[in-house]
Amino acid sequence: MLLKRLEMNGFKSFADKVAIDFVPGMTAVVGPNGSGKSNITEAIRWVLGEQSAKSLRGGRMGDVIFAGSDTRKPINFAEVSLVLENNDRFLPVDYSEVVVTRRIYRNGDSEFLINKQTCRLKDIVDLFMDSGLGRESMSIISQGKIDEILNSKPEERRSIFEEAAGVLKYKNRKKQAENKLFETEENLNRVQDILYELEGQLEPLEMQASIAKDYLYQQEELEKYEVGLLAFEMESIAANLEKSRANFMENQSILIELRQKITKLENDLFGRKENVTEVDADLEVLRSDLLLETERLEQLEGERNLVLERKKTR
Ligand code: ATP
Repeated sequence: MLLKRLEMNGFKSFADKVAIDFVPGMTAVVGPNGSGKSNITEAIRWVLGEQSAKSLRGGRMGDVIFAGSDTRKPINFAEVSLVLENNDRFLPVDYSEVVVTRRIYRNGDSEFLINKQTCRLKDIVDLFMDSGLGRESMSIISQGKIDEILNSKPEERRSIFEEAAGVLKYKNRKKQAENKLFETEENLNRVQDILYELEGQLEPLEMQASIAKDYLYQQEELEKYEVGLLAFEMESIAANLEKSRANFMENQSILIELRQKITKLENDLFGRKENVTEVDADLEVLRSDLLLETERLEQLEGERNLVLERKKTR
């Protein structure tokens, strides 16, 4: 892993975008007092996730934004990007170049990015955790810190050396592991409590389980019977249907036969009606004949009576 480039825009004295390329062989940045050398190291600490405004020589985090000068107005945001070469995958990400970026706005909003993807502060802290570059590591020692080291008591100095030697990392890990162990023990206790509580519920649960099993068995049996009943009903319906179909066919042929008979009878009826008409006509003739004969008979009787009368009177 190599430090390749630092870009600052609006950070402290760097009002304009400034980029520093850490080319091979570069070992120091020199400049007159107040020219902004410490601001460079602070920019690195800040982009790596520094949360203390005080350690960046400010009252609050917004103080890192360029506050204006005699010739320039203040600006509204600060941005720092740190570019690291990661060909050896020293940092645990699958990129050969890692760019971490931090932005802050005057309204208090802030953003963290890893390779232009928004992320959380925690992601950046995690990324550098074991790299020796983290915000708590001794890879960046400010002027004040050197004084602190020189003037500190031996036991305090020990912790500083431990930190620098990377022992602190393991101490922290040990502490974390101990905390985790404690948490696990707590969890274990809780699990045991739960276990105890569950043991009490075991008997009623077993009873409920056997009732549930029995219910399932009965349900299965019921289903079997229902299926059997349905099959039986279906069979008898099919048989009835077959019977009805046969009846229908039989009735159909009877119907055809009856229709034929009706047609025949209708034809007979028609012939008979014609006969009746003929007979009616004959009858009419006979009636008029009868009438004529009756009239003649009456006439003859009248004549006979007349003859008989004449005979009497003679
Ligand atoms: P020294 O060697 O004295 O420590 P230095 O080169 O490290 O100096 P820095 O302390 O990094 O310089 O820079 C200090 C300069 O940055 C000052 O001129 C200060 O006014 C300017 N500065 C710090 N914060 C801001 C800010 N928020 N806005 C504008 N300028 C700022």
